[in-house]
Amino acid sequence: MKHMTEEELIAYRESMSAQPAGVAEHLAECGECRGELQRIEAVLAALDALPIPDPGEDYGRRVWQKIAPRLTEKPARWWQPPRGTTPKPVATTTSVGKSTIFAPSAASHDGTDHVRNRSMDSAP
Ligand SMILES: [Zn+2]
Repeated sequence: MKHMTEEELIAYRESMSAQPAGVAEHLAECGECRGELQRIEAVLAALDALPIPDPGEDYGRRVWQKIAPRLTEKPARWWQPPRGTTPKPVATTTSVGKSTIFAPSAASHDGTDHVRNRSMDSAP
């Protein structure tokens, strides 16, 4: 005889069993599983009787103090241009082509000249 697993008995107790009739039928015949179900019910009843611990009035403040140091001062930049759509500097020479490294952060300060100069340096 195949006995019920603990999971099956818990599901049966919580009325979430996929085969409630089959479990009930087995329980009617099997004292071992009935005993196991009683043990599970005793454990769950004891858990239900446990009081929910009171976290205290300053719980929120204590949690915040713990996580605040882990937060970065500035949030990371939330957008990145999709790959392949990065705008290329207008003056990029064709000989450099795809080897040009476009640096948006540097270009935003002094325009595309910075990028173009770098491209020229690496050109043959
Ligand atoms: Zn059984």
